[in-house]
Amino acid sequence: ALKNSNPECRRIPVGRLEVGGPGFVVMAGPCAVENAEQTSVTAEAVAAAGAHVLRGGVFKPRTSPRSFQGLGEPGLHMLAEAGRRHGMPLISEVMDASQIPLMVEYADILQVGARNMQNYTLLRALGKVQRPVLLKRGLAATIEEWMLAAEYILDGGNTHVMLCERGIRTFETAMRNTLDLSAVAYVKERSPLPVIVDPSHATGSPSLVLPMAMAAAVAGADGLLVEVHPWPEQALCDGKQALTPEQFQYLMQRLPAVLHAV
Ligand code: PEP
Ligand code: MN
Repeated sequence: ALKNSNPECRRIPVGRLEVGGPGFVVMAGPCAVENAEQTSVTAEAVAAAGAHVLRGGVFKPRTSPRSFQGLGEPGLHMLAEAGRRHGMPLISEVMDASQIPLMVEYADILQVGARNMQNYTLLRALGKVQRPVLLKRGLAATIEEWMLAAEYILDGGNTHVMLCERGIRTFETAMRNTLDLSAVAYVKERSPLPVIVDPSHATGSPSLVLPMAMAAAVAGADGLLVEVHPWPEQALCDGKQALTPEQFQYLMQRLPAVLHAV
């Protein structure tokens, strides 16, 4: 589906795709790569539903040090195999500058997580690689702090930066975070960088992912980052917010209606 394209927006090539061009780019997959079967079943489902990029974390920034921390390099092999089978580029989180050489071997987009938005050593190192970076907004970062974090990467010479609104902390506790959709429209007015919305971490619940994904498209987002798991109740990370393949397929069927409306 096509979105309303802004000719001023920077176009970032990702494989045969372009983020920030006329196409609305959907990145989907599990929060964490857990094993080969879960990864391949998820990849097959999101590819069949029309997702463009496969997501999956192998280095997980968990709140508790005793929670599942990710599979590391073996997880990248599983993700790469699943992506190759379906012709999908990959996005995965890099938590530390020391992981960059490994991650650039596998990931087409390097994700900087919310907790690392102000890890300036990491941002400067990412400025020196020629690989698209998705910079998530920090847990409690102002828009200005987020834009200045992006400049750490841009100033190093890597112009392929996309921003990701994933909800911020407010006084509201009903949702996991508060999705700041006005930030999407605001940033789209002032910055050439593409903006991706992550309705999964923003809301923390599957029933809210669909309406917020639709709203993100209307607000001007260039794409989505959505968590999908074939067996959410067994997920090792973020199962509470994962869409099932059926829910994700429904979202993909509904999206064109709003994309054509804007
Ligand atoms: C994730 O994408 O799984 C993740 C850890 O997200 P965030 O950094 O937005 O919390
Ligand atoms: Mn997650």
